[in-house]
Amino acid sequence: MKIKKLYINTIGCQMNVYDSEQIAERLHRIGYVTDTRVEDADLVIINTCSIREKAEQKAFSFLGRLAKMKRDKPRMIVGVCGCVAQQEGQKIIERMPHIDFVLGTQAIDRLPAAIERIEKHPCRIVDVDMSQVIQESADISAPPKPHEVSRFVTIMRGCDNFCTYCVVPYVRGREMSRDPEKIISEIKSLVVNGIREITLLGQNVNSYGQKQDLCDFPTLLKQINDIDGLFRLRFTTSHPKDLSDDLIDTFQSVEKLCYHIHLPVQSGSNDVLARMNRRYTREKYLEKVIRLRETCPEIAITSDIIVGFPGETRADFEQTKALIERVEFDSLFAFIYSDRP
Ligand code: SF4
Repeated sequence: MKIKKLYINTIGCQMNVYDSEQIAERLHRIGYVTDTRVEDADLVIINTCSIREKAEQKAFSFLGRLAKMKRDKPRMIVGVCGCVAQQEGQKIIERMPHIDFVLGTQAIDRLPAAIERIEKHPCRIVDVDMSQVIQESADISAPPKPHEVSRFVTIMRGCDNFCTYCVVPYVRGREMSRDPEKIISEIKSLVVNGIREITLLGQNVNSYGQKQDLCDFPTLLKQINDIDGLFRLRFTTSHPKDLSDDLIDTFQSVEKLCYHIHLPVQSGSNDVLARMNRRYTREKYLEKVIRLRETCPEIAITSDIIVGFPGETRADFEQTKALIERVEFDSLFAFIYSDRP
């Protein structure tokens, strides 16, 4: 089989990093190897993020730069995946004649077939179908590279929370949890191949399994903890409203779980939290922080803050500042509000 070169540009969160690994693994099976030079690539994919306007602009600016490259090298295939692909679909193809395909967040398994179709008979493809179940491939994980010790593993996709500032439920669909047996078998195969640290990913890992009546998240953590050869376990992200006492207790009972939780508060004002549809108050948030520190005094707590949410007053902002001072987060990601379609 002729070796073809694949260049992937990944923008956005850990979920996209994981998806890009999945894309590379699936395309490896049809002869593509990843390369770090876009100029040499036979296939260029951008895995996009639409959570903030700036990330979207970054994607379109990269795609714009590819237009000349495609004119000089017409057989090069150019495609868009991820959240912007899901959101904009057909509009991208109409706006940018040099793009060959647009595949949404739930179309990764269909990507190799789409590429083979384009290779045989150049055509343009848009696939943004959303399914209500997670399609599991038999062997889902790319084997680790030499000396690689950490990996992300997605345990669920989508979100049902509809925070008013967030596009995720629209571009990644409703919340779906993966079967625990599939997750455990993926982690076991990574560990056999040298991985020692796993970070479990989900938009809200705290609600893992509830909707489909699978095991709950603390139980999943305990099962993963029993995997021989795994040294460290982490997870992200936790919605404060679903952080249960049982989950807090795992910081004591699950020995491989690292003492860190990312618990996005977003605002310290109850008015703003209500308008964000976060479904907790600053008081409830502070209670969870106290409980976490009582259970695990060494725990590192990190968070996200949005500044300038529509209607936020000076008094709201002062309440956020006061909450930050009170909690003394170990690290904080603070963003200016970004209006999304
Ligand atoms: S819980 Fe997270 S992913 Fe879901 S809507 Fe809210 S901010 Fe977005």
